[in-house]
Amino acid sequence: MSDELHYTFKCPKCGCPTFEEILINVTQSTTFQRVNCDAEITEPDYQNTSTEGGEINRYQCQSCGFVLQNEHGDTINDTQALRQWLEKNGQKTADESPG
Ligand SMILES: [Zn+2]
Repeated sequence: MSDELHYTFKCPKCGCPTFEEILINVTQSTTFQRVNCDAEITEPDYQNTSTEGGEINRYQCQSCGFVLQNEHGDTINDTQALRQWLEKNGQKTADESPG
């Protein structure tokens, strides 16, 4: 039995439910076994990417770019502050799916 809670985001500016985490100084690796060499080299499979390191620069609305800030006007750049923001501005829902 899990007490896991989920927070859903809603942009205060445009109402968009999707936001994005912006990472800086990231090393990204992509696994692939072949590339197609037709006229052009086809890009590797970017489904299989992983990122290493990096630091959160900000969270922002995917649609309008609204940057999340705390009550002091500081840009939110860690998960704890993000959680606090969501507790105030997001919507909390319990996970009701069984198992
Ligand atoms: Zn927005």
